Amino acid sequence: MNNYLIKKTKLLRKGLFAKKDIKKGELLFKIDLSNLPRVKPDARLSKEEEMHMDYVGRGRYVISFHPYSYMNHSCNPNVLVKHKTIAKSEFYAMMDIKKGEQLTYDYGVNALDQIDKELWKTKCKCGSDNCRRVLSTCFIKQPAEIQRKYYNYLPYSIRRKYKLKLQVS
Ligand SMILES: [Zn+2]
Repeated sequence: MNNYLIKKTKLLRKGLFAKKDIKKGELLFKIDLSNLPRVKPDARLSKEEEMHMDYVGRGRYVISFHPYSYMNHSCNPNVLVKHKTIAKSEFYAMMDIKKGEQLTYDYGVNALDQIDKELWKTKCKCGSDNCRRVLSTCFIKQPAEIQRKYYNYLPYSIRRKYKLKLQVS
């Protein structure tokens, strides 16, 4: 984990930054959340804990402070998440990333508890040229080309369940 640095961003939240140049296609990390203690969705959590909640399936959540959990959203991200199962994923560089650059992924297509329901929505300030302006964590609310781009990286169980609802054909 020496390749990454957690520090404050311009927007004064924490973010994850590359400590070395990373090549397109490189595996950044593999995560397995299945053995972390579960938290109930209605548990009383600190703001910090809430920001680090992650879904592991069957209505269950965990809190993880692994470096991946510090990555912020971008509508033009440099990291791709390949979900092997709901609790296991791999993070890959989607482009060459320079030392010092912030690592980001797309929150709109990686909240696996929100494939067809919108639990969270905010104005997006990611600043990229192709910013969608509104950031929703609901997969089905994303533009069709975004759904198509990320569909194959969803876990098989989710693809099977939602295929007909998604604009992916
Ligand atoms: Zn944006």
